[in-house]
Amino acid sequence: MTMEDKHIPQRTCIACREIKDKRLMIRLVQNSDGSVEPDTSAKRKGRGAYICPSKRCWDIALKKNHLDHALRTKINNANRSALFEYGSKFNEEK
Ligand SMILES: [Zn+2]
Repeated sequence: MTMEDKHIPQRTCIACREIKDKRLMIRLVQNSDGSVEPDTSAKRKGRGAYICPSKRCWDIALKKNHLDHALRTKINNANRSALFEYGSKFNEEK
């Protein structure tokens, strides 16, 4: 990563804390009803959190409540299961 790449927005993964090009990461947003879901357009308003497209990072983010902290919310069990399911489609390694 050189200085010339600085114009590419970078985001930190809430699980592994690695900083990456945000286009390579999955953004999560909280809906007005409090539920959290992946923002596939990456353009929705509101507080967002980024996670690598890695099963391992999703496991960490969900099991250790990193996502709850990042979004300053309490994710309910059904929502957590849905996100876990979403994350399980990614590969184990980054
Ligand atoms: Zn990560």
